[in-house]
Amino acid sequence: MSSEEISRIVVIGGGQAGGYACKALRSEGYTGRLTVVADEPHDFYERPPLSKGVVTEGDPLPRLFPEASLAALEIDWQRPKRATAIDRQAREVVLDDGERLPYDRLLIATGSRPRLPVAEWAAIDNVMTLRSWEDAQRLKARLGESRRLGVIGGGWIGLEVASSARKLGLEVAVFERQPRLCERSVGAEVSAALAELHVTHGVALHLGCQQLALAEQADGRVVIEADGSATEPFDLVVVGTGVEFNLELARAVGLDIEQGIVVDSGGRTSDPHIFAAGDVAQHPQLGLCLQSWAYAQNQARVVAEAMLGQDAHYDEPAWLWSDQHGVNIQILGVPHPGMRCVVRQEPQGPVFCYLDDASRLVQMVAFDQPRAIKLGKRWIAAARVLDAGQLADPDVNLMSLR
Ligand code: NAP
Repeated sequence: MSSEEISRIVVIGGGQAGGYACKALRSEGYTGRLTVVADEPHDFYERPPLSKGVVTEGDPLPRLFPEASLAALEIDWQRPKRATAIDRQAREVVLDDGERLPYDRLLIATGSRPRLPVAEWAAIDNVMTLRSWEDAQRLKARLGESRRLGVIGGGWIGLEVASSARKLGLEVAVFERQPRLCERSVGAEVSAALAELHVTHGVALHLGCQQLALAEQADGRVVIEADGSATEPFDLVVVGTGVEFNLELARAVGLDIEQGIVVDSGGRTSDPHIFAAGDVAQHPQLGLCLQSWAYAQNQARVVAEAMLGQDAHYDEPAWLWSDQHGVNIQILGVPHPGMRCVVRQEPQGPVFCYLDDASRLVQMVAFDQPRAIKLGKRWIAAARVLDAGQLADPDVNLMSLR
């Protein structure tokens, strides 16, 4: 179907994916009505700075687009409002105030929300999660009045918050269920390097904590009990133990769902009028939800083109980055069972190259070396067979392996 026949597009979700989809729809020439349903009151913003400069430096709302570019998108905002249902037959989105929004194409970009391992923790005043701008404002204020921070979860949120809190001079302890950090997204060698980085910067790590319990004291401070032994109380506890995907709307209308909404490389769901982007859209080749800034942005752009009837395909490898204790860590690709690690030590920091049985790169993790990642992207795209000896040898210039 061509763009001329589409005059009403509704996007549910005002995050990174929703924002980049809107931008791409307009830049691809869509001139019809563009409605965004968002449950936050803010313009589109990105989340990576929330655990970093927003809490350490008080950086302002990290808007996705300057005001003039946003105005040029001519968005009909429905905010703060929630979509409560999708009527597939009538092709309408129902809002919490009862309004119904007709659509020719619908994009579900509803993202995810923090998962609490124990529901009762939500009632403890000095226990919090981090997802939204409001959460970040609260975290910043609380860190400012705290001396000791406990972090539950040694994943990306937990480690970034730990790093920011150390920068602000707090005592920090991280409690992780797995025997190593970020176990699901990186290999053991990288987990060890992350642990070393954090310990060097004064973070106390408690790994392999099978049973964690929180107890609120009369003064509001929180004791963390790890496998039966209690800690000194913490002024604040941040929980970063993963997310729940916001799949309720998609599930209620019977779209195909596995880990997330099943989509093809153009973001098409099992309903030809409904598309999905960002956290909730399962990666079309990898079959898992990536939850990364780069995926939310780049996949959403491709989906916007597909919504307008173009032959668009998303096939990028996973890519995410993190800043911890002043080190930029970039992760390209996802772990494979049986992958083997080749470590390259450069003066700036290590590059971990993970190879499959055929010596092709499946994952690369680089500390402070963005150029290596650029090269890794090309190697993955070309399924290049690599020589482990050359990769590990710092005297062999990686560029010469192009
Ligand atoms: P995450 O990266 O999935 O890490 C959560 C960690 O907490 C996992 O290691 C998990 O172990 C552990 N955990 C789960 N339940 C636990 C429990 N009861 N006690 C102790 N540890 C427990 O999730 P996240 O750090 O919460 O981040 C939330 C989302 O934001 C993720 O989607 C993440 O990718 C994204 N994010 C990305 C970046 C970035 O790209 N730089 C930065 C921040 C956040 P199991 O594996 O056993 O569950």
